[in-house]
Amino acid sequence: MFIRNDIFSAAQPIPITSLTLRKERYLHEIGHAIGLVHEHQHPNRDQYIEILYQNVQPSMRIWFNKYSAQEVDQLKVDYEYSSVMHYGITAFSSDGKSQTIKALHPDKESSIGRVYRKELSFTDVKIVNLMYQCAKQCDSSIVCNNGGYVDQNCKCICPDGSDSCSKAKQDDKDGECFNAHESWQCAVWANQGKFQRNPRFMLESCKKACRQRET
Ligand SMILES: [Zn+2]
Repeated sequence: MFIRNDIFSAAQPIPITSLTLRKERYLHEIGHAIGLVHEHQHPNRDQYIEILYQNVQPSMRIWFNKYSAQEVDQLKVDYEYSSVMHYGITAFSSDGKSQTIKALHPDKESSIGRVYRKELSFTDVKIVNLMYQCAKQCDSSIVCNNGGYVDQNCKCICPDGSDSCSKAKQDDKDGECFNAHESWQCAVWANQGKFQRNPRFMLESCKKACRQRET
């Protein structure tokens, strides 16, 4: 999930040809339309992943090439395995099953692979906010620590989905009220009304996000 420097051109078609595509795919294609490039093609991707070119269909290898720092500006946003702009670990595999992308941090590989459960990652949302200067009208004295950003309402949005970006709060697992699931994902689900639709799952997995939503 990164931006190219030559965007902001005229309206462009979004190549969605099948009605059966999943939401993650729509998000990915809309990401391209507004200027994002593939996460796994980012200039410093070699610190995070290895491309197994020998397993990639030869005609598709072009989609695994790395952009230079002159072509793509990441706006200092961190690499994110779970970005909707990241290919899955067997994408364009020549035999349909061999791995084409390998995480250098093995415990991160499962976040890449969740293709059909993906929502926008925190960094997907952050970079679009930065790219389109959504906080341009806000007081420049507003600072969001620990990777947070200022949103269009001049409020901090933090990697855990809350609006208070103190490290202590992010790591707070005291008592009953914590998210067993990843906090950003919990915040996205809570915003989408999943607490009302599936309260049992949300109370098991995202108790803190549900509580934040109520207050
Ligand atoms: Zn793409």
